[in-house]
Amino acid sequence: MSDILKKRDALASALQSFVDLCDEAEAVIGNAEVQGSGERDFSVLLDTLLPLPVDKDSIQGTNMRQLQMLAEGCTKCRLCEGRGRVVFGEGSVPARLMVIGEGPGFEEDASGKPFVGKAGKYLDSWLGAIHLDRNNAVYIANIVKCRPPENRDPEVDEVEACLPYLKRQIQLVKPQIILLVGSVAARSLLGVPDGVGKLRGRFLRYEGTPVVVTYHPAAVLRNMELKRPVWDDLKKVAAYLDIQLPRRS
Ligand code: URA
Repeated sequence: MSDILKKRDALASALQSFVDLCDEAEAVIGNAEVQGSGERDFSVLLDTLLPLPVDKDSIQGTNMRQLQMLAEGCTKCRLCEGRGRVVFGEGSVPARLMVIGEGPGFEEDASGKPFVGKAGKYLDSWLGAIHLDRNNAVYIANIVKCRPPENRDPEVDEVEACLPYLKRQIQLVKPQIILLVGSVAARSLLGVPDGVGKLRGRFLRYEGTPVVVTYHPAAVLRNMELKRPVWDDLKKVAAYLDIQLPRRS
């Protein structure tokens, strides 16, 4: 075992003994039985006090916090030059559903949060329609973590540079199902040339995890005829997650 792992182990044991002692003291003061709160997870504290060295070029083995730190310092492509904030992604870990979009827009770049602009509000309503919400069992991320100038599509080399962060994120989030919104998200993650029209409605998987492809909320806001197919796709997500919806259509 490496030195740093030994030190982390020793610190975790010391912290656990301290917590156990506090439990005992509390029981004595309260004249109650010692309940013991079991093994605690000290990983956040350990990562702060004794962070694991991270190989800048290898994101395998990182935890979510380390991954976010790497993404926030990333200069692997030109998008870092114009970014306000890195929009890493956020939500529940693990999650039932992981939604993946294309890349941050103006509001996301300013706030550091994914899908908070007009398209994001619309996405929230989609989640609500299948009884989910972004603060519960859902994780939201993008293909690229920095805003492309003028909201253009990310270029191939930008996607290539950024994809390892997302792929590690998916490993950590362990979603039961992935919803890819828009052609850029679908093509980039699945590595296929097709657009949403060809990919939606098909049985797809990413590394074993079921994938549903649908239109981007911004595209639907521009063309309300896409609402119907999106609803059909959302119903597939709900059915997979065993979410009962009222039989309205
Ligand atoms: N569009 C995206 O694809 N992602 C966001 O985070 C915001 C808008």
